[in-house]
Amino acid sequence: MSRTIAFIGLGHMGGPMAANLVAAGYPVTGFDVVPEALAAAEAAGVKVAASGAEAAQGADVVITMLPAGRHVFAAYQGGDGVGGLLAAAKPGALFLECSTIAVEDARKAHEMVLATGHRGLDAPVSGGVVGAEAGTLTFMAGGSAADFADAGEILEVMGKRIVHCGGPGAGQAAKVCNNMILGVSMIAVSEAFVLGEKLGLTNQALFDVAANASGQCWSLTTNCPVPGPVPTSPANRDYKPGFAGALMAKDLGLAVEALNSTGVVAELGSRAEEIYRRFAAEGGAGVDFSGIINTIRAASTAPEQ
Ligand code: NAD
Repeated sequence: MSRTIAFIGLGHMGGPMAANLVAAGYPVTGFDVVPEALAAAEAAGVKVAASGAEAAQGADVVITMLPAGRHVFAAYQGGDGVGGLLAAAKPGALFLECSTIAVEDARKAHEMVLATGHRGLDAPVSGGVVGAEAGTLTFMAGGSAADFADAGEILEVMGKRIVHCGGPGAGQAAKVCNNMILGVSMIAVSEAFVLGEKLGLTNQALFDVAANASGQCWSLTTNCPVPGPVPTSPANRDYKPGFAGALMAKDLGLAVEALNSTGVVAELGSRAEEIYRRFAAEGGAGVDFSGIINTIRAASTAPEQ
């Protein structure tokens, strides 16, 4: 018999992830604090509950897909006299924490799960809403080998690449490191296109060279920040996300938290965080992160003659 699943956080990502679990035959009970999100999940076959605790009652697996660490702690612990997920779930339940949160918060969440007699993984994702809908997310998991093996059949419904990165927090660590590369590389690619434009190069010429040379990277060949060379990139649809500037700013904020807690000096990673934080605050929050090229272009005035 299929294991029962509680799904907490039915937003842009959690909604379609829960729907895929239902489509695969799992009984899923969901909860979200926003009624519209609950209604959409119900339409997709999720049984809705009046609280997280109610959803978790008797569930074998508890999945959280929430905005940030503080939401995860609030859902785990409950509040205002209302018990949380940890108290409601049956002993030994498997907690899969799929939100993108700070590495230290992920480790704390693991401790809470173990201290209350449960098991768990941090399992953040990449692949965005498109990947959540298609069931093709990449999961980066942290936790024990046994819990990773146990989670496999459920994560495989929602994703196509499932990587065990190490112990508690290792999934979030991998996510934050990957996205620091991504933020820095998108800025580098965008600066190069603006410089190429100023030097009289066509974008296509620079793409044809760099895509097959040492400048090759995902920011160039998949999410190319100029329209034309990669027809599917957000630049071709007025920078509609894709991966929104607000999420890049958030993830780089988590990277800087990790840099500070480890004492690592990452001049480019830190600078990328500043650049994307400003981008998000000044109109880029809902724009694909490759729209940073327009900020660079706007700032690049011709030198005085
Ligand atoms: P979202 O804001 O659309 O969804 C989060 C949901 O959590 C909301 O519906 C909110 O009402 C709900 N929520 C908040 N507190 C709650 C609580 N205590 N109990 C129940 N529900 C609660 O965000 P999203 O885009 O779905 O992202 C979710 C997580 O996935 C974030 O951590 C994000 O960084 C990460 N992520 C997002 C993307 C993306 O492309 N959207 C990609 C990778 C990772």
